[in-house]
Amino acid sequence: MRTNSKMNFRIVMAMCLLAGLTADSSAKLNPRQASLRGANVMTVDLVCSKGVKDTDLNQQDIRENIVQQLEQAGIKILPGQLWGTAPGRCRLKVLVKVYKPSDLDTFIYNLKVYFVQTVALERIPEAKIDAVTWELAWLAHGSKNRLTEAVPTNLKIMTDNFIRDYNLANPQDSELSGNSESNIVPITSPQGQIRSGVAARYKYVSSKNSKVFHSPQCRSVKRINPENLVGYNSKEEVIQAGKRPCKVCKP
Ligand SMILES: [Zn+2]
Repeated sequence: MRTNSKMNFRIVMAMCLLAGLTADSSAKLNPRQASLRGANVMTVDLVCSKGVKDTDLNQQDIRENIVQQLEQAGIKILPGQLWGTAPGRCRLKVLVKVYKPSDLDTFIYNLKVYFVQTVALERIPEAKIDAVTWELAWLAHGSKNRLTEAVPTNLKIMTDNFIRDYNLANPQDSELSGNSESNIVPITSPQGQIRSGVAARYKYVSSKNSKVFHSPQCRSVKRINPENLVGYNSKEEVIQAGKRPCKVCKP
């Protein structure tokens, strides 16, 4: 009886969590998720504390893995020195702090993944300032050997969290995301002009990150990041690329 009620409790909790996730993806985003809308170009800065030198962690590998993860999600990563040229001066900062207390046989490590961009003050819109709009931190400890595995693993999970929120703020598949108008980039933007260029030249279009293809007139085409837009002139070509037709525009 006791085990049963415990299990029921777990099932209810799991259902609440699932309901929460579904509501999140289709309805309102929280401000920290919404702050990632359109942030598709950024730099990645890795900052390591002195203590990292006493571990076997490879700083170059850590950074490259994160860059790769972001690029696979369709985010463009600029070389560090070009941070000022990213729209909104978007930077993903990764902080790795390691500290070895002299009286303990363990390393304490503190990880932080945070997103910085230039924002305008509500009271004084002309005053622009760099601010952290998204962040995640992790604190744990472990042996030197354990750290070599745990730090990259935890950074991967944290970056996955960032990508999940980025994807919620930048939906690419209209079939899943409902019709919230706010997700649509206005067609008059410079991005819109590039988009209509590609859309006008091809019979079918798709995002390189999506398994769905559309007719150029489909409203969900407006939501595809122009950098990810790919065009095809025959149905065989699209099918061969492993894509299926959109259920809304039925191309
Ligand atoms: Zn479509």
